[in-house]
Amino acid sequence: MAKLYFRYGTVGSGKTLSLLAVAHTYRQQGKEVLLIKPKIDTRFGSDQIRSRCGLEMIIDLLVDEYTELLSRSYKGISCLLVDEAQFIPEQVIDDLREITLRWDLPVICYGLRTDFRRNLFTGSKRLIELADSIEEVKSTCYFCNKKSIFNLKHHNDKPSLDGPSIELGLEDLYYPVCFQCYRKKLSMDQANTKQEELVPV
Ligand SMILES: [Zn+2]
Repeated sequence: MAKLYFRYGTVGSGKTLSLLAVAHTYRQQGKEVLLIKPKIDTRFGSDQIRSRCGLEMIIDLLVDEYTELLSRSYKGISCLLVDEAQFIPEQVIDDLREITLRWDLPVICYGLRTDFRRNLFTGSKRLIELADSIEEVKSTCYFCNKKSIFNLKHHNDKPSLDGPSIELGLEDLYYPVCFQCYRKKLSMDQANTKQEELVPV
């Protein structure tokens, strides 16, 4: 049986670039892939998956809670690739899980683990529950050289915990940060900062 993969990372960790590289490799070998993106994510135009370094591909399928993935045919397709998987509705993740079995197709999902308040996104939560393989796409904290694990939001040039957890088109306002910088920048619980400095990331 093929596997369901969840590859997560912070903003700017190159998740979309990895997805496009996988798609490119399959296509170079004459194999077909299906590129999937949530309907909600239209920041680069609704028909594209584009990485920050400028690479882009046309997406094949936009999904929302009304999308019926199980009624489609996947004949001739070698892999399903899902971008911005954190915004994929739970029942669609369930269907993707089912497809790995029914069609023996690998499904590779890329997305953020948590929002700027450090809460799991709906799609990411379901993927952590159902995936065979959960892999981290690692990147570095914007402010130091530790590994980034959170997304810090800036509003009016200041770190912020306000606003909805989904704010598309504003990705430049988010910074990949380590736990220490997240706490320091938000001035949360400063008394404990010294103690946390001893905790390896
Ligand atoms: Zn840091």
